[in-house]
Amino acid sequence: MNKKTLKDVSNLEGKVVLTRVDFNVPIKDGIITDSNRIHAALPTIKYLIENNAKVVLFTHLGRIASEEDKLTKSVQPVAKKLSELINMDVQFIPETRGKALEHAIENMENGSILMFENTRFEDVVNGELVKNETKNNPELGKYWASLGDVFINDAFGTAHRAHASNVGIASNIEESAVGFLIEKEVKFLFSAVENPKRPFIALLGGAKVSDKINVIESLVKKADKVIIGTAMCYTFHLAQGKKIGNSLAEPEKVDLAKELLEKYGDKLIIASDSKCATEFADIPGEVYDEVPDGMFGMDAGPKTIEIVKDALKDAKTVVWNGPFGVSEFENFKDSTQAIAETMGSLKDATTIIGGGDSAAAVIKMNLADKFSHVSTGGGASMEFLEGKVLPGIDAIQDK
Ligand code: AMP
Repeated sequence: MNKKTLKDVSNLEGKVVLTRVDFNVPIKDGIITDSNRIHAALPTIKYLIENNAKVVLFTHLGRIASEEDKLTKSVQPVAKKLSELINMDVQFIPETRGKALEHAIENMENGSILMFENTRFEDVVNGELVKNETKNNPELGKYWASLGDVFINDAFGTAHRAHASNVGIASNIEESAVGFLIEKEVKFLFSAVENPKRPFIALLGGAKVSDKINVIESLVKKADKVIIGTAMCYTFHLAQGKKIGNSLAEPEKVDLAKELLEKYGDKLIIASDSKCATEFADIPGEVYDEVPDGMFGMDAGPKTIEIVKDALKDAKTVVWNGPFGVSEFENFKDSTQAIAETMGSLKDATTIIGGGDSAAAVIKMNLADKFSHVSTGGGASMEFLEGKVLPGIDAIQDK
């Protein structure tokens, strides 16, 4: 990477280091149900502490469209969780700007941590949806930049968006660099798309072809095989003249699916059989080669699972995004589980999960540590794999 990284910043001692992290974690009834994103940023935070910096952390949490949203989206529980995980005090300031925040930063000691309130609280001012953070209001980026000496962006999950808390600050501060998490994400995703060990297999599942069309087109050129799981396969089944019952599909994308099959038919493998249900619910399913009328295709069937296992057998690089079925339902998680287990057991292969629902599924199955890399950013990793420039990284100074 030609961008400055944390180790390129000399002399952190005593400097106020504004550090954008992605602590957009799921919270239920005030309890954080998955703290992986906090864990993922610890190497950067610990390095800054060891080097006696004054660490000012900030993150977004969810979407803020009204004053009411603010009542449930404070990042205070996140600051508390971080304090437990890192075993030191984390001072929390319930503001995104103003005197209290400025004084608190001025009074920080070397090697201490302060976290301020959800950056997206700036999206709503006096009840009005102004989107100062998510539309990268220039004044806000400038103001936040004025609070520190150095900016570290370690929020991979939002790197595909130009917000005030990444691009805005980076454009207004003297020194900027990416943190260890972004460095790691880029290293794995870049090596997969630019210089993969072969065979290179890409697995793409999830709901919609339209969301993933660019990534299919980009990966099919680079990978040796691209395997399409459910529900996306049903748009391809329509293109092949197969019945799909009530399965999720996009009829308006059938021509596109035909085109892809014609152009890349030798590389594309489309999930064939399906485990089907009489309604979209977590009920026992039945396996069919074609989804019968009135039924829903909910998961890839056993034949498809064998085809995937066979394709993965000798793989040296595997990138996976999107569950192959409705993996949230116990009855329809078999193919997703089989892929996770097969990928996890590959020897000498680089195995990458591109974030989102497939990452959540392997974490839930306790298999995450069997992979070379589980990305913390679904949207960001997809855009990276499509070959797009991520503005949150692009705005960082070159080496
Ligand atoms: P994505 O965000 O595009 O990766 O889509 C993930 C979502 O796709 C998950 O919530 C899955 O439940 C859903 N999904 C996967 N297979 C199917 C299917 N056969 N029918 C409906 N939804 C599905």
